[in-house]
Amino acid sequence: MASHHWRQCRTRPARVRDLLPAEGVAVTAWQGSTRRSRLPKDWPRIRARVLRRDKGVCQAVFSDGRQCAQPANQVDHIVPGDDHSMTNLRALCTWCHARKSAQEGGTAAALTRVRTERPKPTHPALDD
Ligand SMILES: [Zn+2]
Repeated sequence: MASHHWRQCRTRPARVRDLLPAEGVAVTAWQGSTRRSRLPKDWPRIRARVLRRDKGVCQAVFSDGRQCAQPANQVDHIVPGDDHSMTNLRALCTWCHARKSAQEGGTAAALTRVRTERPKPTHPALDD
């Protein structure tokens, strides 16, 4: 019996090609889904420009109005999607970017958690 059970639980290696959407299919389908938008070819340059404009400082503002101001190494789309213009981009630190990504891509439960959660006192920006 044990060996039978073992065989049932074993997952067969999936064929990766069957699981991935065909090239180009997702381009028109990203809207309204949680799929990450595609980044333009010159994204590294745009990204560098945003970080330079924001002086490498996290632009996130907490609910109490204070700016995070930690060293930023992420570039965030203020409005998620395909708008890669400078006005829709801002520098964020890893922590704030992870927090925002969780908000956008997360489940309803994650949304509630993020909204009600106070910034953690362990965050270096809140220690001063
Ligand atoms: Zn931050």
